[in-house]
Amino acid sequence: MNTPDRSLHPVNLPREWTTTSWRERPALQLPQYPDAGELASALQELRGLPPLVTSWEILALKQQLAEAQEGKRFLLQGGDCAENFAECSSEVISNRLKVLLQMSLVLVHGLRKPVVRVGRFAGQYAKPRSTDTETVDGVTLPSYRGDMVNAPEFTAAARHPDPRRMIKAHARSAMTMNFVRALIDGGFADLHHPEYWNLNWVGHSPLADEYRHMVNAIGDAVRFMETLSGAEVHNLNRVDFYTSHEALLLPYEESMTRQVPRHWGWFNLSTHFPWIGMRTAAIDGAHVEYFRGIRNPIAVKVGPSVTPEQLLRAIDVLNPEDDPGRLTFIHRMGAAHIAAKLPALLDAVRRDGRRVLWICDPMHGNTEATSNGYKTRRFSNIGSELEQAFDAHAAAGTRLGGVHLELTGEDVTECLGGARELTETDLERAYTTMVDPRLNYEQALEVAMLIVRKQAQ
Ligand code: PEP
Ligand code: MN
Repeated sequence: MNTPDRSLHPVNLPREWTTTSWRERPALQLPQYPDAGELASALQELRGLPPLVTSWEILALKQQLAEAQEGKRFLLQGGDCAENFAECSSEVISNRLKVLLQMSLVLVHGLRKPVVRVGRFAGQYAKPRSTDTETVDGVTLPSYRGDMVNAPEFTAAARHPDPRRMIKAHARSAMTMNFVRALIDGGFADLHHPEYWNLNWVGHSPLADEYRHMVNAIGDAVRFMETLSGAEVHNLNRVDFYTSHEALLLPYEESMTRQVPRHWGWFNLSTHFPWIGMRTAAIDGAHVEYFRGIRNPIAVKVGPSVTPEQLLRAIDVLNPEDDPGRLTFIHRMGAAHIAAKLPALLDAVRRDGRRVLWICDPMHGNTEATSNGYKTRRFSNIGSELEQAFDAHAAAGTRLGGVHLELTGEDVTECLGGARELTETDLERAYTTMVDPRLNYEQALEVAMLIVRKQAQ
């Protein structure tokens, strides 16, 4: 039987919120669709399409995030900066799943607590940009805003925002979800067989020994428990996998915001765990207005310019009932700023006794350009921001409950450093991201090991 839904009585929902009330607020980072009729017809079609996730899954994740707030779980959130339609393929999806599974294995083993796995996938198709237009050789065109909006090629036709792309994004997200669910249901995540997750190209990785050692230790533990109990240890052949994306393109998100028969209120059924990006987190803006009325667990990116007062105000608006699991803050300060900026925020929230889950995105504050023109991130800065984050939380009496990473299971060379010490010239070999540089498989695993080492101190 399904348990009754008693959390947060509907009486407390702000009266004036509707799925469209965001339209009365300033909305940043949205494309200008030239043809209102085309937009309306695409949105109408979307409203009739099935959801990608269910309210039961959303509330189950919220419960797990509430446990992470209490230190009983650790959140691993990761995936591409931007998914793209062309890479909605079996290999890319399964490789990304493999990396996340391997990282979670390292974290479970090292932290001795369950890990909540959330992919940045099945909907991560819309991107905020620092400028609305791009100029090349005297030609100015709209910026690329993700495959859900337009295409990356530098032509007027490609950069034209096309509302039909939202329907394609919905379909690609559904295909991704379907394949992930099928893999998981088929035993892909079975702890008895972590060898399923091996990726060919890492055969000679400098990290291979450490990883293999962990896999063997876990295999021994599983067999030991099965011997003791005389039965198969339950739940080791199935793990939960949740999805997340930046809910940036509000017309799309609105069309996926639905009511369901057995739960009150409104759910964004395009993803389990949407987040608000740093550029659209203004308290009186359209994105915060939209987010405050949905029942999903939600996250907000917190950059170095946010003040303690702004953060407390955001809690008032987004989680007025102090609902467990509802609100996550993803701080992304940069290795050079975190020590100066984070402690005051942690103090303010702790002193106010507010319930949030703190996680660290050590990627977005550490982006730089190389002399040969690549947008990159140094592994040393990523590691340093993470280590400083653990220290800042320890000093403030708060808890770092997870990480948010941009990573891929492909053998890319986009971030500098790591165990293989990638250099600026290596970036030329396999730099394929459309937007931000991602950790490759090996660098991602190395981050998981770094977290475990730091926590063991
Ligand atoms: C992102 O997560 O890809 C992103 C744009 O992050 P932020 O909003 O933190 O800049
Ligand atoms: Mn990014």
